[in-house]
Amino acid sequence: MESTTRPPVRLLVFGRQGAGKGTQAVRLAEQFGVPHISTGDMLRAAVREGTEFGQRAKEIMDAGHLVSDEVMLGLISERLAQPDAVNGWLLDGFPRTLQQGKDLMALTGADGIDLALDLDVAEDVVVERISSRRVCSSCGANYSVQVPPTSPWTCDVCGGEVTQRDDDTEQAVRERLATYLLQTIPVVKWFEEQGLLATVDGVGDRDEITEELISLVTNRLF
Ligand code: ADP
Repeated sequence: MESTTRPPVRLLVFGRQGAGKGTQAVRLAEQFGVPHISTGDMLRAAVREGTEFGQRAKEIMDAGHLVSDEVMLGLISERLAQPDAVNGWLLDGFPRTLQQGKDLMALTGADGIDLALDLDVAEDVVVERISSRRVCSSCGANYSVQVPPTSPWTCDVCGGEVTQRDDDTEQAVRERLATYLLQTIPVVKWFEEQGLLATVDGVGDRDEITEELISLVTNRLF
């Protein structure tokens, strides 16, 4: 798709932790030729860089809390001002509070967001998915209790140790989900009230879900 001939594509992707949002967000951004902007990835990059901001963000993330709306707005407005975002973007992990939603709308203007997609997966299903997830501590490859590496628990890709992430225990997952319910569901509802939300069933074949998302965006925008 030629970026010079098509209208801008400005998308939001919502979904509980474990809904498959990250995977689908990457695929959609690629399909529509826009940058995939994940606030979680941006914050983790700042943590790796070891900046003062990164150190503060790490404390907040490790505690399972949200970084402040003010800081997030600064981060996202700088990112959306980058040259690669002039003809659209896909936001993954932002907005996460009602305030962030209103801030984003103020930043982009009322017509500046084309569609918000909500990947719907029931809470019990995501708890089951995440608590059975296992990850290579060296290269990040994903496994699960149902689909372990060939030699438990050594990574097939790099030989690293395959373990459970500290924040993937059932208790920790339930805490992050509670924050989603309390803070993020209200902003999802707000976008629905604006007529900007499309909800997709996130349980099923991954490729079929991608196709459904692509056709929703295509029908809406082109
Ligand atoms: P998850 O969806 O599993 O929480 P993310 O990668 O989206 O993972 O986010 C990781 C952490 O980064 C969050 O728990 C939160 O502390 C922080 N974070 C990411 N996006 C935002 C945001 N929009 N507002 C506040 N904090 C955020």
